[in-house]
Amino acid sequence: MKTNLLGYPRIGSKRELKKSSEAYWKHEISLENHLKNAAKIRQDNWVYQHEHGIDLIPSNDFSLYDQVLDLTLTLGCIPERYTDIKLKENPLDLYYAMARGIQKDGFDITAMEMTKWFDTNYHYIVPEFRKNQAFELLNLKAVNEFKEALDLGIKTKPVLIGPVTFLLLGKETEPNFHRIDLLENLLPVYFKLVEKLIDAGAEYIQFDEPCLTTDLSIKEQEAITKTYTKLAETFPDLKIILANYFDCYGENLKTVLKLPVHALHLDLIRCPLQLDDILNADEFNKKTILSLGVIDGRNIWKNDFEQSLKYIKKATTILGKDKVWIGSSCSLLHSPIDLNLEQKLPTDIKQWLAFAKQKVEEIVSLNSIVTHPNSEENIAALKANKQTILNKSTSKLIHNDAVKNRVSKLTPKDSSRQSIFKQRQSQQKSILNLPLFPTTTIGSFPQTKAVRSWRSKFKKGEILQTEYDDLIENEIKETIRFQESIGLDVLVHGEFERNDMVEYFGEQLNGFAFTNFGWVQSYGSRCVKPPIIFGDVSREHPMTVNWTAYAQSLTDIPVKGMLTGPVTILQWSFVRNDQPRATTCKQIALAIRDEVLDLESAGVKVIQIDEPAIREGLPLRKEDWQAYLNWAITSFKISSCGVADSTQIHTHMCYAEFNDIIDSVAALDADVITIETSRSNMELLDAFVDYKYPNEIGPGVYDIHSPRIPSSEEIEGLLEKACNLLPIEHIWVNPDCGLKTRDWPETKVALTHLVNTAKKLREKF
Ligand code: GLN
Ligand code: ZN
Repeated sequence: MKTNLLGYPRIGSKRELKKSSEAYWKHEISLENHLKNAAKIRQDNWVYQHEHGIDLIPSNDFSLYDQVLDLTLTLGCIPERYTDIKLKENPLDLYYAMARGIQKDGFDITAMEMTKWFDTNYHYIVPEFRKNQAFELLNLKAVNEFKEALDLGIKTKPVLIGPVTFLLLGKETEPNFHRIDLLENLLPVYFKLVEKLIDAGAEYIQFDEPCLTTDLSIKEQEAITKTYTKLAETFPDLKIILANYFDCYGENLKTVLKLPVHALHLDLIRCPLQLDDILNADEFNKKTILSLGVIDGRNIWKNDFEQSLKYIKKATTILGKDKVWIGSSCSLLHSPIDLNLEQKLPTDIKQWLAFAKQKVEEIVSLNSIVTHPNSEENIAALKANKQTILNKSTSKLIHNDAVKNRVSKLTPKDSSRQSIFKQRQSQQKSILNLPLFPTTTIGSFPQTKAVRSWRSKFKKGEILQTEYDDLIENEIKETIRFQESIGLDVLVHGEFERNDMVEYFGEQLNGFAFTNFGWVQSYGSRCVKPPIIFGDVSREHPMTVNWTAYAQSLTDIPVKGMLTGPVTILQWSFVRNDQPRATTCKQIALAIRDEVLDLESAGVKVIQIDEPAIREGLPLRKEDWQAYLNWAITSFKISSCGVADSTQIHTHMCYAEFNDIIDSVAALDADVITIETSRSNMELLDAFVDYKYPNEIGPGVYDIHSPRIPSSEEIEGLLEKACNLLPIEHIWVNPDCGLKTRDWPETKVALTHLVNTAKKLREKF
């Protein structure tokens, strides 16, 4: 049996890639050094996997920013607006301009759109396709990285995003065609890349087609058939690994089983039942190798060896050991890197966990247990694993009866507001007294180096609580004064005390554990450190009230209380694998509800409950959507509906398309929703318009994901679009998202433009 890893984290165990990228962008290090740092990470990864005995080690799983953007550029699929940059000497200029936008050397070009990678919290750069889009092989990144590993004596398995998934991940920038029609144009160029890899010595190539977890049209299924039949015909000696992950092959299974591929990869964590389906399917020729994804690439729990061995044995009994591989369910990109770095995790909890490095060991261990079941070492390993799994299932750290009771006693009343929106709206109007086009921000203000250093000093015990509080209070005060000075209508305290919008809450809730180095890439250089929800969740004390109340004490203008919603907390944490997500979510919802009510009692009149992750929680297949949406909506409402009619509830969502979930978004019944729309040029508003969305809405008019400053004209253009689409008395004016990743100078100018544009518009209407 071979061991097969689909992909490995690329940020480095201490976020070396993030640090290097950011230093390079700030011109603090040279291109050469930046590339050296990147190469070092790749090499460490390969060597680690090699030394531990992984047979099929991935290459081209590394990326300086995003693997989809890598392929977009490799295939020469460059939107027209970047053509001038193309001519510049430094190839990374173009790459980073596409990723982040560019505002220098006379260029002023927006970044490409970014969206969630399937149901993960990783974001990719959305390829843009024109009608009759031509492709050309522009670079050989995949080949170079393969050779780089070969130089170390490691023959890797290059990983490529499959052509069909690549097309489906993109969007059309012109009407009257479907991007799947570009397959004809794409394949010859794509095949050229494959050929170069083979020429360089690649024996296996992994083609990632996670679009196979979604509902594909007949045409899209045909595209799969065509691609892989042709690929096998063109390269008869290539060992094609077709990888699907994040869910079942489902309806696409019949298509897939007929393909002439060497190996088929199954995610048995998300979809264990498909193993039986495949083994029993008439279409399955039993010559194809099954790569069993038994090690969870998306979560941090130690593998249950007994369970995995059941799957492996089932497959080997029918296929024989040489037709079965053991691997990760998906790329370990979504997993933190090294549990051994964690010094502060309680030992009880730590023993239940495995990060990427440990998952590599687990894969190898499982293989060894199957191959040499009677070796003493393996008997001991299996026994130790059993013991840990048992310990976790019965641990007192996990179960809290009071919490379980409270959830079981929830009634529909707990998740509905006292009055309908219209009535609430008029009460809120008279209390808040806001102008037309009220302006606000999404919550966070720049988390400068200084702010972050205070927190880290405080955490290390280098400064006292009182000193830390003073520093934060001072920052809040300045931020309030700034907001007043430019004339924002609903202020925020700035979230300076928060490392991260989920971690901050998790740290104060029971049932959560934290890592020091458990970073996972979110997009580009941005990483998140998801908390681990290991037990029943409850709130012991208020979490945000002091800061918000302090901010409100400084001003007569309303200050918005800022909370993270239950679905987002759930979605951005590593979750329990011993109870349904819905149950965990309701536990969190009750904790947030308590916080909302405490804020209200403290005199806060506007409370925002961020739910940027609602959409990404959607199951990949439509048939599963409603069940999810039902508990997600209920959870949001449990947290938001305890307040009086006069308290204005905001919610915020970003990176989301709303078309297919607009009724659920409306069902949240937030008084105001702010959404990210600027990069899509207000396209994302269409769903709200078509639906006649009844409540108030703030379409983002400032893309905060890039340092670029929007001009007043640009903001005005976007707002005018919004005015043509929505009732003007429903429109709020705000950025796309929080400003924590921005610097102050650009933030100040951009927000001034924003407020002034709102003022100008008020005069018009
Ligand atoms: N309130 C959060 C902030 O401003 C919202 C962030 C988000 O939507 N991702 O940072
Ligand atoms: Zn956001």
